[in-house]
Amino acid sequence: MTVKDRQLPDSHGYFGQYGGKFVPETLMSALDELEQAYLDAQADPEFQQQFQKLCREYIGRPTPLYPAQQLSAKIGGATILLKREDLAHTGAHKINNALGQGLLAKRMGKTRIIAETGAGQHGVAAATVCAMLNLQCIVYMGEEDVQRQSSNVFRMKLLGAEVRPVSSGSRTLKDAINETIRDWVTNIHNTYYLLGSVVGPHPYPMIVRDFQSIIGEETKEQVMTMYNRLPNYLVACVGGGSNAIGLFHPFFHEKSVKFIGVEAAGRGLETALHAASLVAGRSGVLHGTKSHLLQDKSGQIQTTHSIAPGLDYPGVGPEHSYYKETGRATYVGVTDAQALEGFRLLCETEGIIPALEPAHAIYYAAELAADLPQDQLIAINLSGRGDKDLDIVAEAMGMNL
Ligand SMILES: *Cc1c(COP(=O)(O)O)cnc(C)c1O
Repeated sequence: MTVKDRQLPDSHGYFGQYGGKFVPETLMSALDELEQAYLDAQADPEFQQQFQKLCREYIGRPTPLYPAQQLSAKIGGATILLKREDLAHTGAHKINNALGQGLLAKRMGKTRIIAETGAGQHGVAAATVCAMLNLQCIVYMGEEDVQRQSSNVFRMKLLGAEVRPVSSGSRTLKDAINETIRDWVTNIHNTYYLLGSVVGPHPYPMIVRDFQSIIGEETKEQVMTMYNRLPNYLVACVGGGSNAIGLFHPFFHEKSVKFIGVEAAGRGLETALHAASLVAGRSGVLHGTKSHLLQDKSGQIQTTHSIAPGLDYPGVGPEHSYYKETGRATYVGVTDAQALEGFRLLCETEGIIPALEPAHAIYYAAELAADLPQDQLIAINLSGRGDKDLDIVAEAMGMNL
């Protein structure tokens, strides 16, 4: 194998200089146990079949690849295709990973699942899968988020999960993650930490990427069937980076396919109110992994902002840092106001209400498409549906629901 063909991450969990396991000694053996169990499961056709079967019968996969003809015609440039993760059970891509890891936890004989959540989307996906697989589920959530996202808290409770509010620090996602890690250290014997994006210490960025790669694998097959060629561009929003890596990774060796990751530029990159870790951050260690971070001069993690709750995180998965550094992918920022334009554009042209996260990708792809000829194919990951965001959008439009 040449260096270029090398499987990523390497055996120590690095993607180039990014990734690794920066955790207390007490977690090292748990991470090793997890990695071994995962590699065993990955090599076991029965496990893979079980995952594929539930993807079909429970999640509703494959999700369609939809040629957005009205949107493309309105823009008058390249042909835009939408990978419809919004049609997956629970309305977003997060369920793919939650299902995969839920099955892995069962296989490892763990009976207690813990998860962290910011806006509540990952908490809902984890609670959903735990209900279906009959696993106990505890979700840590910052007190601030518990108040802001009350309908997701209610959803998790309906699904039988226990939601534990976290009152330390800024009372948001990063504090919830710290609390989840604390729980894991204490209850390692029977507890599985179900992590929600391609972040955290090795092997999580690899495991989550592999389960989310079903998005890109299906897309590849669907584009080939429909157009008999590969797409020219893949565009996806990047919070922690799981829906983007899931789309990109299966095309890694297809050098003609360009990857564009769209981060939240919030109120503007010139303000401190954004969440563009790759575009505006620098290398550092957070939550067990080395990657791009938003930090101040002394290395303190910055408070982030995005109109899209799922993009509001100061770090990003290490594989994206590697793609950025090697030029395999390009990362750009889209502001709150531009994302709202993307949101309305898709509602009005296609009758699809997108989540605010992929609305960032829609805005950027529309700009890109305008400058390209019609024979160019742009596939956008429509990572989720917008029902969860109606309050935020109404408020931004000066309306009261
Ligand atoms: C959580 C979420 C995201 C951001 O997470 P990634 O790990 O970057 O994919 C994007 N879209 C939707 C709909 C989400 O719920």
